[in-house]
Amino acid sequence: MGILSFFSKEKKETLDKGLFVTKQNLFSKIANVILGKATIDAEVIENIEEILLTSDVGVQTTFKIIESLKKRVAEKRNIETSELTNLLKIEISELLIGTTNQTDFETPADKKPYVIMVVGVNGVGKTTTIGKLSFQFKKIGKKVVLGAADTFRAAASEQLVIWAKRSDVDIVTQSAGADPAAVAFDTLQSAKAKNADIVIIDTAGRLHNKINLMNELSKIKKVMQKVIPDAPHEILLVLDASTGQNAIEQCKQFTTATEVNALALTKLDGTAKGGVVIGISDQFKIPVKYIGIGEKIEDLQVFNKTEFVDSLFKK
Ligand code: GDP
Ligand code: GDP
Ligand code: MG
Repeated sequence: MGILSFFSKEKKETLDKGLFVTKQNLFSKIANVILGKATIDAEVIENIEEILLTSDVGVQTTFKIIESLKKRVAEKRNIETSELTNLLKIEISELLIGTTNQTDFETPADKKPYVIMVVGVNGVGKTTTIGKLSFQFKKIGKKVVLGAADTFRAAASEQLVIWAKRSDVDIVTQSAGADPAAVAFDTLQSAKAKNADIVIIDTAGRLHNKINLMNELSKIKKVMQKVIPDAPHEILLVLDASTGQNAIEQCKQFTTATEVNALALTKLDGTAKGGVVIGISDQFKIPVKYIGIGEKIEDLQVFNKTEFVDSLFKK
């Protein structure tokens, strides 16, 4: 076994642990449904529908999965219940948008610096995710500069400074209450001067109304583009998976306010609502790039659809 497969084995074990509550919930319920049943019948399918809904997969996505399942059963009668998890794995994989083969932290080499703007409501885990990301990028030898553009809350900047120290990366800050766009401007200038590889901009998660949010984010973008015309390259929306359907609602709001092109789903550990990853991915067609599975610096993974589905249905 090479060193690479060793690390990926470790990654899978961490994922299994992170998804434990969701898995446990899913398994015990599926086991109950097929108890004493030889083949997948209408009653089994109806119960599966219920299970998916209570795992926060979402109504529309559950409907799609159930329809495909019904079609399969109609085409090929008497499918054994032992086949059920395999069929669900296939259906769910088809709905999951995401880079199947990406397993490691990486960013496009032709964008230097590659600028990531992180958005999302207060408390979802933006600052923590940025800290974890810097740690990973630093580990693969990238030069990272953080921008503390959440100037709205007094402690936000200090919190990011702590993460920057932990990951040993540079950070640009201004005093509390400063214009977030000005912080973004300074950060990009500094990153350019230092020939940095990656810039990550933290923002405040104010969602008092859509117009304000839109204005604030487009102002930050406009100012960044004075320094790097095609920045930001990535608008990463952070969502708290443990809020289930609320996360879907936030995704709706943010995708109409700005061009979100990547998602991070945090706090998958300790929640039974892990199914929300499937619903969000299917509904918004935006790749889930990262998943947070704990509060520690190493508790962030690159989302890999095959690994995720495998882990979800592995006992
Ligand atoms: P922000 O307001 O969006 O910047 O959110 P923070 O980064 O400050 O995080 C809010 C809380 O969520 C903190 O207590 C974090 O430790 C916690 N948190 C963030 N990501 C995760 C995760 O993946 N798992 C768990 N269990 N907690 C997390
Ligand atoms: P306005 O300040 O509300 O008119 O909005 P702008 O979009 O013009 O700029 C927002 C903030 O970004 C400003 O308050 C400046 O601090 C900063 N900014 C924008 N352009 C520049 C620039 O060319 N140089 C510097 N140093 N800061 C800039
Ligand atoms: Mg924050």
